[in-house]
Amino acid sequence: MDRLYLSPPHLGRHELNYVLKALEDNWVAPAGPNLAGFEAELGAAVGVPYAVALSSGTAALHLGLLLLGVGAGDEVLCPSFTFVASANAITYCGATPVFVDSEPATWNMCPTRLREAIEDRLRLGKKPKALMLVHLYGMPARLTEILALAAEFDIPVLEDAAEALGSEWEFQPLGGFGRVGVFSFNGNKILTTGGGGALVTHERALAERALHLATQAKDPAAHYQHSEIGFNYRLSNVLAGIGRGQLGLLAERVKRRREIFAWYQQHLADLLPALILAPTPPEPPGTRSNRWLSTLLLDSEVTSVTPETLRHHLETHNIESRPLWKPLHLQPLFRDAPMYGGTVCEDLFRRGLCLPSGTAMTDDDLRRVARALSEALAD
Ligand SMILES: *Cc1c(COP(=O)(O)O)cnc(C)c1O
Repeated sequence: MDRLYLSPPHLGRHELNYVLKALEDNWVAPAGPNLAGFEAELGAAVGVPYAVALSSGTAALHLGLLLLGVGAGDEVLCPSFTFVASANAITYCGATPVFVDSEPATWNMCPTRLREAIEDRLRLGKKPKALMLVHLYGMPARLTEILALAAEFDIPVLEDAAEALGSEWEFQPLGGFGRVGVFSFNGNKILTTGGGGALVTHERALAERALHLATQAKDPAAHYQHSEIGFNYRLSNVLAGIGRGQLGLLAERVKRRREIFAWYQQHLADLLPALILAPTPPEPPGTRSNRWLSTLLLDSEVTSVTPETLRHHLETHNIESRPLWKPLHLQPLFRDAPMYGGTVCEDLFRRGLCLPSGTAMTDDDLRRVARALSEALAD
């Protein structure tokens, strides 16, 4: 049996044309028409005027924080339940993450814990310099409450929408709600350039500064003069070509990811209440998750099967699955970082698993996963 991967790249018909054109025209550089085209098309797709294509989502997070003025000794609010890159970018700036627990409906940052965290940091005389807002697995965070808190306490928001390209909140694409938004085009994301990322913003000055920092921060002089530390973070024109081909497929890819989640939900209904597909908060009109990964939760009061036994069983059928992100406050790396709450994301981590969710999966592939899950829970 072929291996079923969690979320492999899924190329379309047009990527090769853009890549070939770049090679034919000798635009094999971190500059060129694909880069400009990719940025314009990405901005249009997410409804934000300025986009800067970068070498990774992590690079985009790092630059985004620098644009918001985050530096040594600062604190940045961040969900504990996220991929390590969100918090690593904070440490690249010499700042410290202040972790906040999830809320059970969306799995994203809990507004109640967030208020506690902000008020407590203010009491300690440390006003958070920025708020890293993550939409995990594509699910929109509680934007109304979180943006209101950020406004109340005047804390700029950086939106880590690495997993949420194509998700929407009240008819608006995620990524454009903060001063800076970030996307990833890593190989496992909903669209890929093989490796890459982008920073988006409504402010022209921020976009110009991002581009400056991403290209070694050269002063305007022919002789390579530098007044501050820059980075080599630009995406290459060849890879931007892959991105252009992929972007045209966004709506189709979101549709298929959502179908896959709905398929699992329908065909695993027999396994209730031991296993549920989650998270499933109400999706009011205009609000939707891209369902980047389909994720499940097990109920330990109903079944003795754990996510780890499930994962091993799927592995015997050559099916890849993965635990949910291990909360960052439990990581040895962030042992000493402040944390507000913790039981919600710890519980999700103990009970959850990510299922194969690639858009190239066929219904036969999905049936294979469902059969293996049923088997594991029947034993
Ligand atoms: C993938 C991811 C990133 C990092 O993106 P890369 O392109 O892999 O550097 C950041 N944050 C989250 C939540 C991610 O899932």
